[in-house]
Amino acid sequence: MSPYQPPVKDMITLLKDVIDITSLPQFDGGDLDADMIDIILGEAARLASEELAPLNYSGDQDGAVLEDGDVRTAKGFKEFYTTYRQNGWNAVPFTPEYGGQGLPWSLAFAVQEMWQAANMSFGLCPLLNQGAVDALEAHGSDEQKAIYLEKMISGEWTGTMNLTEPQAGSDLAQIKSKAEKQDDGTYKVSGQKIYITYGEHDFTDNIIHFVLARTPDAPEGVRGISLFLVPKFIPDENGNPAQRNDLKCTGIEHKLGIHASPTCTMQFGDEGGATGWLIGNENEGLKYMFTMMNNARLSVGLQGVAISDRAYQHALGYAQERKQGTAIDQKTGERVSIDRHMDVKRMLMTMRALTEAGRAMAYHAAYYVDQANEGDTKAQSYVDILTPIVKSWCTDRSLEVTSLGVQIHGGMGFVEETGAAQYYRDARILPIYEGTNGIQALDLHGRKVLRDGGESMMGFIKDLKAEAAHYGTDSYLKGLEEIETATAHLLSLDVKSGSAVNKSYLELCGYVIGAGLLLKVAQHDEEKQNIADFYIAHILPFAAAHTQIVLRGAESVSGV
Ligand SMILES: Cc1cc2nc3c(=O)[nH]c(=O)nc-3n(C[C@H](O)[C@H](O)[C@H](O)COP(=O)(O)OP(=O)(O)OC[C@H]3O[C@@H](n4cnc5c(N)ncnc54)[C@H](O)[C@@H]3O)c2cc1C
Repeated sequence: MSPYQPPVKDMITLLKDVIDITSLPQFDGGDLDADMIDIILGEAARLASEELAPLNYSGDQDGAVLEDGDVRTAKGFKEFYTTYRQNGWNAVPFTPEYGGQGLPWSLAFAVQEMWQAANMSFGLCPLLNQGAVDALEAHGSDEQKAIYLEKMISGEWTGTMNLTEPQAGSDLAQIKSKAEKQDDGTYKVSGQKIYITYGEHDFTDNIIHFVLARTPDAPEGVRGISLFLVPKFIPDENGNPAQRNDLKCTGIEHKLGIHASPTCTMQFGDEGGATGWLIGNENEGLKYMFTMMNNARLSVGLQGVAISDRAYQHALGYAQERKQGTAIDQKTGERVSIDRHMDVKRMLMTMRALTEAGRAMAYHAAYYVDQANEGDTKAQSYVDILTPIVKSWCTDRSLEVTSLGVQIHGGMGFVEETGAAQYYRDARILPIYEGTNGIQALDLHGRKVLRDGGESMMGFIKDLKAEAAHYGTDSYLKGLEEIETATAHLLSLDVKSGSAVNKSYLELCGYVIGAGLLLKVAQHDEEKQNIADFYIAHILPFAAAHTQIVLRGAESVSGV
């Protein structure tokens, strides 16, 4: 049997019953109907579990290899990419105008969860491409779209995101890469980028880099950054890859995890400058890049959910097989499987409850993206608030979940051959990339709470309270009140003191919102009531601790 069985039934319940995605306009009279959801998810599940999941462990062992500037991906990856692409999976969420399938984000999210759970190293390639497509669609010229969009949507070519430089990680104001305008309107791009995911690979015959750089007279800081499209091969007049551009991969990183995802050092412009095309206007690059990043941030949160589910399934399977000890309440001497021990049950339920709360949160956020795309401004304010929470809370929880997965395996969890250790190693990148979780807390605090004096956050909580009238418990309602209290306190603090406790503020929001969503799910699926009860008893209490940290913790964060 495959090492990963996608939770299709849970996904369908969430999408159809809890969220009701069939109320979206995509279901209004076209080819898409409620039955199609089952068909799409069923087909993705088959491919993810039968063909992609078995490559996860071998991919970790093989890794990606750099040979003379070319990256050879792990065995089977290239072949799977071709199958994935030819079956149309890359095109799922994108606009039909350029060959996309135009499915709602929320449905695409469920599909994406399967690729990420089956094989996170593989799933990163489409994840980065998705951000690049969004940026091009939103800000590219008609000509750029005509040349690149269809191929990137179909997956014939892939896109990358080139932000980071050695001195410019979280602080993109420090970007030094240069771009000089040429007489023909193109730019010569030069500089070094580091940690570029799938910056080089063998899946496709072209790679389209989205590069942040500065023009010579650009203002200092983030106001002077522009976004350039820099293809590995410059397309000829027929749109086919032709002249090799002046860029190369000079190294790939040896990493704690995601060994099969090539993390590349990219050198642009060794021989006079790589030819690049400006996207949108000069000096507005960071704004455009945020189009890519916001989407990618939700997807990274989803990766946290996905790898948690994979670790849970693995741990459950092991716990049902491994026999140790006798049942505590039966002194027969018969050895029992470890899933009969209460502490192991507790760990398994913790893994499951955190995973399911994260899934409900990520899918709701994706649904609000769908609504916001229809012009719903309230939904957009929910997306803005939930994006840093989904990114940070779901990925921090994935570290706990994958660690519990190792713990349930005992000593076998610490040795590599079971695979439990790989999930733990792979998950560790999630709180770091796409804006560290510290940066997410700053985002929630500064942009989403302080900027409008807490208005949208208080509005969001008010809406959750109104909804909770249908299914809330006292402890969940108390949690919502604690968010209100903590928000008011955060607003009263100066920004430096607030930034000492904003991570706890984010955690508080995550724990409470997770509780509400599990209660909501249980309304539609009574089998989930025990998960919600467990969460309320064992996990929600962490929210109160974070409230206390927000209220009392700022001053004690001083010098180290
Ligand atoms: C495997 C991998 C894949 C990646 N893929 C890509 C990619 O495809 N494209 C790309 O452009 N980049 C990519 N990155 C880069 C990644 O986004 C950065 O590593 C990340 O943004 C953090 O930057 P940094 O490593 O320089 O850490 P730093 O910015 O040096 O941060 C170090 C620590 O300081 C904290 N910190 C920094 N500034 C602040 C602040 N103002 N307030 C509070 N805390 C702060 C951070 O939270 C962190 O804990 C990847 C990285 C890795 C490891």
